[in-house]
Amino acid sequence: MILVLNVGSSTIKYKIFRGEVEVENGLIDRIGENSVFTHNGLEESLRIKNHEEGIRFIKKYLERKNLSIEAIGHRVVHGLDLTESKLINEEVLEKIEKATPLAPLHNPPELAVIKACNSFEVSQIAVFDTSFHQTMPPVAYTYALPKEITEKYCIRRYGFHGISHTYISLNEPGKVISCHLGNGASIAAILDGKCIDTSMGLTPLEGLVMGTRTGDLDPGIIFYLLNKGFTSQELNKLFNEKSGLLGLSRESNDVRELVVSEKDEAKLAIDVFVYRLIKYIGAYVSVLGGLDCLIFTGGIGENEWRVRQRVVEALSYLGAELDEEKNLSNQEIISGKKSKVIVKVKKTNEELMIAREVYKIIRN
Ligand code: ADP
Repeated sequence: MILVLNVGSSTIKYKIFRGEVEVENGLIDRIGENSVFTHNGLEESLRIKNHEEGIRFIKKYLERKNLSIEAIGHRVVHGLDLTESKLINEEVLEKIEKATPLAPLHNPPELAVIKACNSFEVSQIAVFDTSFHQTMPPVAYTYALPKEITEKYCIRRYGFHGISHTYISLNEPGKVISCHLGNGASIAAILDGKCIDTSMGLTPLEGLVMGTRTGDLDPGIIFYLLNKGFTSQELNKLFNEKSGLLGLSRESNDVRELVVSEKDEAKLAIDVFVYRLIKYIGAYVSVLGGLDCLIFTGGIGENEWRVRQRVVEALSYLGAELDEEKNLSNQEIISGKKSKVIVKVKKTNEELMIAREVYKIIRN
């Protein structure tokens, strides 16, 4: 039995697999505040002050249920040049620690959880979010910076959400664009199952507008703000945690609230989010030389019909057509019968992809 952990800055999501069968799942949400533990659909309030305590809680809970774990798989966002799934040892931990400045929201809680999981005394495997994007060609992953700088500091586009984009592109041949729209958001251009470009770069900050992250910015803004007295730490926090939908709307990073808000700022926030997405899709249609299938996933992609409607309407130049009823009810295929592009909604399953990697590694 395998425990798969998918950790956010204030969440621990877990699933337990026996083979490919999911036998149990749960989520600790709002770690550090009044936490909520959801397991198999039931909710329970509790106090969990940090991720270590969250793991201790999950361990006890699994022991009470007599679920004995044989290996643990972790989603790891950034491992620098370490992109293949790895059995975690000191060397792997060091790499993840070294990559922390490049994934400041993700790597610290992941490291805390990996260390806390030593108490299970089983093999732990790191599965990297960058892995899927390794097939990008140099033209897609190279920044136009002097080579001596990019080589010295391992600067290139790595891409993230790879575990989700892998799942989304399974059994999807041809020219595919996968849109993972959650709190973090990224889009990938995929040709016959292989990633050829993606919107996140050296860090998960590049690309689309996100819940609290800026996405693409003119780098000149950084120098301008540094000259105005901001420190680099302040800018890191500003760009990662206070921008995006939250910064634009000054209200919320939750799309559910913004789409029904009457405030101009909330409307502009959604407009900018959708506009950036349409722009990226256009770029990736050019890169792919056409589009067979557009797929939406992530909390917004799976649920927010208004966002999908606006995007698909903007793609009418490609002959894309929506079946409005199907779109409203989040059906798996939401394009109309005459549409020249198939448009799908897929629920992502990063944990299943991680479990498969864990089995591969422990079998070897
Ligand atoms: P994360 O990237 O943290 O895993 P999710 O994939 O769960 O996040 O996505 C979070 C986003 O999805 C939030 O902006 C939230 O508003 C949006 N979302 C979640 N459920 C719904 C829903 N039923 N309708 C519209 N938006 C939703």
